[in-house]
Amino acid sequence: MSLDLPALLAETGALLSGHFRLSSGLHSPNYVQCAKLLEHPRNANQLGSALAEKIRALSVQKVVAPAMGGVIVGYTVAQALDVPSIFTERKDGAMTLRRGFQIGSGERVVIVEDVVTTGKSTRETVAVVEQHGGVVAGFASILNRSGKQNPFDAPYEALMALALETFEESSCPLCRSGVPLDAPGSRFSGK
Ligand code: ZN
Repeated sequence: MSLDLPALLAETGALLSGHFRLSSGLHSPNYVQCAKLLEHPRNANQLGSALAEKIRALSVQKVVAPAMGGVIVGYTVAQALDVPSIFTERKDGAMTLRRGFQIGSGERVVIVEDVVTTGKSTRETVAVVEQHGGVVAGFASILNRSGKQNPFDAPYEALMALALETFEESSCPLCRSGVPLDAPGSRFSGK
C-alpha cells in the first residue's frame, strides 16, 4: 500500500487552519499536529517504513529521537530497519540521554524527528550523540518545515516538505485583523 501523506494529513486532522503561535514564537495560519498523524499504529508504521527506506543506505546501527515528538516515529523507523531505538529528553532545559540508554563509541546513528522546523532540538540531540562518542550519519523527519532542502550538515530525508506561512507577531495579518489565537488541542480535540 503506497503512502499518500497529503491525504493522511487531511484524513487524520493533523493539518489545522486558524491562527496559531508556534513554539518558535512565530504566528501562522496553519498548525501541524503530528501526534494525530501517528495516532493509529497502522499510520505510524506506514510512515516509519517509508522513512526507513529513504535512509536504509546510511547503514545506521541505532535510531536516536528527541522526546516527545520523535519518539513514536523514531521507534517505527527503527522497527523497519531492525535496529534499536532510543530517545533524548530535556532535564532542566538541557537535552540529555537518560534511562540507561547508551551510544557506543563510533556507533552510527540517525536522528529521527516528526517535524523539523528550526532544527534546534535536532542539533541539541547531535551534541548529545557526539558527547557519547556516536557518529550522526544522517537525519530524517516526516515533515520538513525548515524552508530548506537540508538545514543540516549530513544527509537529511523527509517524506514531505511543507512550506507554511509564518509571521513575526508584530507583522501578523491575523493579529492585525483581530483574529483570536487558537490553542491547538483544545478547540480541535472534539472532546
Ligand atoms: Zn498573529
